[in-house]
Amino acid sequence: MKHISKYLLFICLFFTIESFAQSVKTENGLRSSYTGNSDYKIVQVDPGKGKKVKNVILMIADGMGLTHLSAAWVANNGKMNILDNCMHTGLSKTYCANKLITDSGAAGTAMATGHKTNYHCIGVNPEGNVLQSLTDLANNKGLSTGIVVTCGLTDATPATFCTNNIDRDREEEIALDYLSCNVDFIFGGGRNKFNMRSDNRDLMQEMKERGYQVCYSWQETQLAQEGKVFAVLEDGQLPLADERGDLFNRATQKALKNLAVNKKGFFTMFEGSRIDDCGHENDLFKLIPEIWDFDKTVGEVLKWAEKDGKTLVVILADHETGALTLTDGSLQKGEVTVNFANKGHSGIMVPVYSYGPQSNLFSGVMDNTDVFNKIKSILKL
Ligand SMILES: [Zn+2]
Repeated sequence: MKHISKYLLFICLFFTIESFAQSVKTENGLRSSYTGNSDYKIVQVDPGKGKKVKNVILMIADGMGLTHLSAAWVANNGKMNILDNCMHTGLSKTYCANKLITDSGAAGTAMATGHKTNYHCIGVNPEGNVLQSLTDLANNKGLSTGIVVTCGLTDATPATFCTNNIDRDREEEIALDYLSCNVDFIFGGGRNKFNMRSDNRDLMQEMKERGYQVCYSWQETQLAQEGKVFAVLEDGQLPLADERGDLFNRATQKALKNLAVNKKGFFTMFEGSRIDDCGHENDLFKLIPEIWDFDKTVGEVLKWAEKDGKTLVVILADHETGALTLTDGSLQKGEVTVNFANKGHSGIMVPVYSYGPQSNLFSGVMDNTDVFNKIKSILKL
């Protein structure tokens, strides 16, 4: 009997072993290994036959190159929603106007406005002139618009869709632009740029005066009715996936529910923002769960789009972070070994995945500015 209980204990321990990662510095950079412990179910969505596009969902995985996704795929024993369900794939060139290696400001501006601009610019051209973004054009056409991110709202990617500035670091100025952006559903972090400001203004309150339902917590966001929503849940960025849980998924589903009320359709951008931070830190142990969280959210978004039948989903990165290569591993064991060659961005093209009506237009090699051009033309903005 004693032996049996020991045996059972051993089995229990075996099945509760957590994921782990280890890293070694080499002359080529940082070599890291990860063994997965994920059991999330992959969705299976039907490609559908419709051609009409009413809604577009643009999903950006900040800093997620092909190697990042491949590593997460190996660690998840060869399954990913993105890889198993997207109907078309392409490649996007990420260089900006004055540098081969872009930042999220210039890359976001290219996708949001269709213009290559200088490093660190937000929604302006290299001369500093204000550019119209997809959310501006969609608003003008009477479509609803949304932004859901896991970073601060004044961080580069969300800022390029909602604001304009020659320097991404001027975050207090960027926060002010949200007052006039007219985006219907706004969700993210970075509250201290709105209500702990050097000018003592409380932009959370000012957004309320402009007709937004202002939310400080998930509980409040959940209860928000139809109409404009401004949800800023943290002073800084939202926490990483292990602490955040499925908040990103819940927020995107709430956005879809609210935006879909508009009979004319909507354009929305959802960003898995913190994949980039984990790349900069060369932290594979944090990076893989961030990608899994993004992929799980993609799965639920694709299910929503499948049910709707008139929704195009485009998924891509703004650039690659960490100059990552995949050097060893095992699909069966969910083990992967990678090498980070730098702590910044790299200049390699990033993959584009698409699902739904007109998704074939996102196959082949494109410039990041084409993301804007194609969506503009598909939604007739
Ligand atoms: Zn970055």
